[in-house]
Amino acid sequence: MKLSEMREVLAVRGIQLSKSLGQNFLHDGNQLRRITDAAELTKEDKVLEIGPGLGPLTELLLDRAGEVLAIEKDARLVEFLRGRFPPDQNPEFQLLHDDALKFLKREPRDWSEWKLVANLPYSVASPILVELALSPKRPERMVVTLQLEVARRLMAGPGDKDYGVLTLLVQLDYEPRDWFKIPAACFFPAPDVDSACVTLVRRAKPLLPDDHREAFVKIVKRAFSQRRKMMMKLLKEDWPVEELERAFAELELSPQERAEKLSLEQFVAVTDKLFSNR
Ligand code: SAM
Repeated sequence: MKLSEMREVLAVRGIQLSKSLGQNFLHDGNQLRRITDAAELTKEDKVLEIGPGLGPLTELLLDRAGEVLAIEKDARLVEFLRGRFPPDQNPEFQLLHDDALKFLKREPRDWSEWKLVANLPYSVASPILVELALSPKRPERMVVTLQLEVARRLMAGPGDKDYGVLTLLVQLDYEPRDWFKIPAACFFPAPDVDSACVTLVRRAKPLLPDDHREAFVKIVKRAFSQRRKMMMKLLKEDWPVEELERAFAELELSPQERAEKLSLEQFVAVTDKLFSNR
């Protein structure tokens, strides 16, 4: 969908775009193809798209995947999409008018054979990613366009300034693979922030059993609740000090260590120890 077509659709329908819904539409054909390529789609694939907007990405997804489920919050865009992709001509397309985050929380599903491919609304990109990444039946791949700043957090490692809660909650089950920047001029209207597309691939083998996940999330959130403070001191809020001292000693971690220096594997090991030492 070219920029001129987008402008026309919006003008004819009198649609004023909403900043709070993150309505920056991608009109650059090359970038749309790069995003779809990153998803490595075949006709066997089922794709979840959050925020289809006017459908520039949806069109390519329908072309390459076997099934597409799109969730759009804005009723005006849903109405347009129903006309653009009529159900009788697109049986492989399902469009829901809903708030995607509320939908994901309200209706936990088995997404394990799905791929998320989306140019996410920036204000809810992180909670949507965490919701899907931590769900027991998480998608096999997530190819997401979001703020460059958030992309950096998804790809960060220990010691990086962007390393933190989002990094660890997503990397627990996903390996960040490729990424590329998308210039602001590729969107209409151009956003104030830089954007990037990141590919996250689900780990073949989970690092933690399902029943340890809640504890992992609690430990990570607590450990980063005050970045400059020693992790052991912060964790004392939730765990008995003797158990913490024993776990840190067994893992040869200094009691003075700060969360930002610990790797994902070390957070996993701390979670395991605190469980098995009980
Ligand atoms: N995919 C389109 C594109 O690439 O041009 C639009 C992307 S635009 C960045 C984000 C889209 O998400 C908008 O269509 C917006 O209306 C929709 N949206 C915003 N918040 C949403 C939510 N909570 N649930 C579902 N869709 C949402």
